[in-house]
Order: sequence, then C-alpha cells, then structure tokens
Amino acid sequence: MPNIEEHSRISLARTGKDYAEIHEWMDRDPEKKVEHHNVSRICEFGSIIRAKYGDEGLNEYVQHIYDAVMARYMMGKEIIGTAISASLAYHEEIQRLIKGATLRSKEWPDS
Ligand SMILES: [Zn+2]
Repeated sequence: MPNIEEHSRISLARTGKDYAEIHEWMDRDPEKKVEHHNVSRICEFGSIIRAKYGDEGLNEYVQHIYDAVMARYMMGKEIIGTAISASLAYHEEIQRLIKGATLRSKEWPDS
C-alpha cells in the first residue's frame, strides 16, 4: 500500500498540490485508519473533506482509497498467482512421477 509520502507524491503529480493533510488524516492514526478508508463512509467523510479542501481535495480523498484498494488487490493477485504457480508445479511433478512409475512398471517382469 502507498504510504503517506507516496500518496502525497501522487496527489502532487496529479494536481500540483500534495494534499498531505488529507493523507495524514487517512493513514497516520492506526486506530482510525480502517475507519477512514471505509467506503461506506465516503459520503460522510467526503462532504467534510469537500467543505475544507474543495472538489479537488474530495477527489484526492477518493483517489487515496482507490489507490489503497488497488495496491491491496495487486498484492492479493500476486499471492494468488504464486499459489497457483506452486500448485501447478506440484501437479506437474506428480504427473511426471506417475508417468515415470508407469513406464518403470512396464519394465517389471511378469510374475
Ligand atoms: Zn491509506
């Protein structure tokens, strides 16, 4: 997930302002962080942010949540991708072992 400085750099590049106060409010307090990222409270928090920072600040608040969600999604996608790759490699190894065992069994003498 982007940290406060990264969120501020993204805002600065996008708008010319870092909106550091918004990103500090979003992320600084560990006990409030989840609450401040709660999408069901966007209207409530967004109206307060719009009143203080205008439409552009509101957009940076929503963008902060979007960037955090996307970072989490990409992390999950990577974890799932790694797990799937490991599972496929395991399955292929099992298939190779079974195939090898089958070939060897044909070499066994009839009893
Ligand atoms: Zn955040």
